[in-house]
Amino acid sequence: MPPRKRKPKPGKPPTGRSPGKARVTKKEKSLSKKPRLKAPSKAAAVRPLPEQPEEILFRVEGKMSTFGGPHDLGMAANEDLALFTKADLQNPKYAYLFLPASPSGTSGLGRRLNPDQYYFACRWNYAETPREFLRRALARVENPANGRAADARPVDWGPHPSTGRVADLSPGLAAALGLNTDDIVRITISARRAIPVAPTLTIERSGHGSCNPHAKPVVKQFVKSPNCSCRNGAKIDNIILHCTEGSLASVLAEFQKPDGRQVSAHYVIDRNGDIYQMVSDSDRSNHCMGANQSSIGIEHVGSQTDSLTPPQAAASAALIRWLLEQYQIPRTNIFGHDFAPGYCRPGGTSCPDKLFGPLHSQSTIAAWVEANV
Ligand SMILES: [Zn+2]
Repeated sequence: MPPRKRKPKPGKPPTGRSPGKARVTKKEKSLSKKPRLKAPSKAAAVRPLPEQPEEILFRVEGKMSTFGGPHDLGMAANEDLALFTKADLQNPKYAYLFLPASPSGTSGLGRRLNPDQYYFACRWNYAETPREFLRRALARVENPANGRAADARPVDWGPHPSTGRVADLSPGLAAALGLNTDDIVRITISARRAIPVAPTLTIERSGHGSCNPHAKPVVKQFVKSPNCSCRNGAKIDNIILHCTEGSLASVLAEFQKPDGRQVSAHYVIDRNGDIYQMVSDSDRSNHCMGANQSSIGIEHVGSQTDSLTPPQAAASAALIRWLLEQYQIPRTNIFGHDFAPGYCRPGGTSCPDKLFGPLHSQSTIAAWVEANV
């Protein structure tokens, strides 16, 4: 089986390939069809699809090819990977992806990949799925034609759009799934696989004697805000969504200041999906003038023009799902800051800006809730 012809690129930097330049050499893949792979040498790691609905953070379906390992002469001898560095060779979590030593005449991580391991590349938008998120993610890779599926790690950016393909898989993964070059593959990263969820022990009882079927998403840190008070027995019956219009650091700092605007929120969700809690649910936080008594306030880190990132949307949806169940809040009681019943700040607010959609309206919020929660 001859390797694909792909000229090594002289002068290509050995490390830190930028997405724009990465895998440009893949262009040549489209010119040389890979011969059919031999029958899989080992059984596919077929696992049943999960029963429960999952929050999808990334999904792509389209043509595929293969890449990586000592025999991929289409990769330059010094070509590295977009998501891993040589330091990762020492990391027990990732070392299995690589051969114990560089194949002779090579220095890059691309040729050092162990082609029998399950890895893949897609054209990531790092604004939506940041590198650090991808490094922690495990994807489900499926062959829709035969139903075979396996878990695999993202390792690189590619293939080049001109190939007309959406993904490159390791030769071992392609063989296990029975995929040949230009067959259709489906790749999914869900929140359940990418973001650790709280152990079942933390599932709390709702006030109605039934167990909340949703685990509370992991709170990265409880950063206590002094800007809160007693609910005076008021029942929690609505959720109010906000945009920070500032960085995570600035909002955490402001909410901890006792002598500033004395504002706060119960939760702050960062662009990468990390959740910070600042006020206990049982207390009242100062996030929406006139509507604090019975609400939970959730801030989302973003500017006035940002939309939610996929990990942020997934974290928010998971938190909202848990809150709805935990406090038996009707789904119709999820509001954008400016649209919350009782909100009475003169002049209103532009919050939650464009995080949930381009139009500043409660129907935008309701549509997002309908689609995501
Ligand atoms: Zn707000």
